[in-house]
Amino acid sequence: MKTIGLLGGMSWESTASYYKAINEGVKEVLGGLHSAKICLYSVDFDEIEKLQHSGCWEETGKILSQAAQSVEAGGADFILICTNTMHKVSEEVQSSISIPLVHIADATAEKLVTDGIKRVGLLGTKFTMEQGFYKNRVSEKYGIEVIVPNDQDQDTIHQVIYNELCLGEINDESREKYLEIISNLYSKGADAVILGCTEIALLVEQQHTSIPLYDTTQIHAAQAVKLAISQSST
Ligand code: GLU
Repeated sequence: MKTIGLLGGMSWESTASYYKAINEGVKEVLGGLHSAKICLYSVDFDEIEKLQHSGCWEETGKILSQAAQSVEAGGADFILICTNTMHKVSEEVQSSISIPLVHIADATAEKLVTDGIKRVGLLGTKFTMEQGFYKNRVSEKYGIEVIVPNDQDQDTIHQVIYNELCLGEINDESREKYLEIISNLYSKGADAVILGCTEIALLVEQQHTSIPLYDTTQIHAAQAVKLAISQSST
C-alpha cells in the first residue's frame, strides 16, 4: 500500500472528514484491521485565512509548498491538498515536490464525466466560485459547463463557510439557505451541484435534496484510496 500525503487544517473540520473517509475506504477494500498509511501536515488555518482575504496568495503558496516538502520527506507517495480553495496555488505546490499532486477538481470532474453530467452548479468559497483556477479547469479540460450562484448567494455561501462550518458550527437556517441556492442552480439548468468546499457536506448531505450532489471531500478521499491500493504508480 502506498502512503497518502495530506495537506490539511484548512479547516481541520474537513481534514477530519478526509481522515475518516480514507481509513473507511481502505478498510472497505482490505478488511479487518487494515488502515491507511497517511502522512499529514496540518497548518494553522488562521494564518492561511488572513493571507487569503488580504490577497497574499503567493505567501500561502510558500507555506503550502514547505508543508508539502515535509510530507514528501515523511514518505508520502503522492499528495492531496484537502481544500478546494487552496488549489489556487496547486501548481506552485506541485513544482516544489517530486511526488504527484492529486488535483481535487480533476477527481471531481472525472466522476462527472463518468456520470454523464454536462452542466454543473458550483458551491464553494467566493475565491473558488469567482476565479478561474477551479471552474475553468472543469470546463476547459473536461467540457463541462459550470454555473455559479449570483453575487448575493455567493456571499451567503462564503460567510457560512468561514463563520460557521470552519468553526464546526452547523445551523439548520444555513442549511435551508444552501438548499435554496442549490435549487436555484438546478432551475438555471444544472444537472447536479458540486459541493466545492470540503466543509459543505458537514451541512448539506444528499438526503436533504433530490438534486445530485458531488461532495469533493468524499470524491478526493476515494481517489486517494484507489491510488494507494492500486499496484500501478500514480
Ligand atoms: N475547505 C474549504 C475549501 O474546500 C475552504 C477553506 C479554505 O479556504 O481553504 O475550499
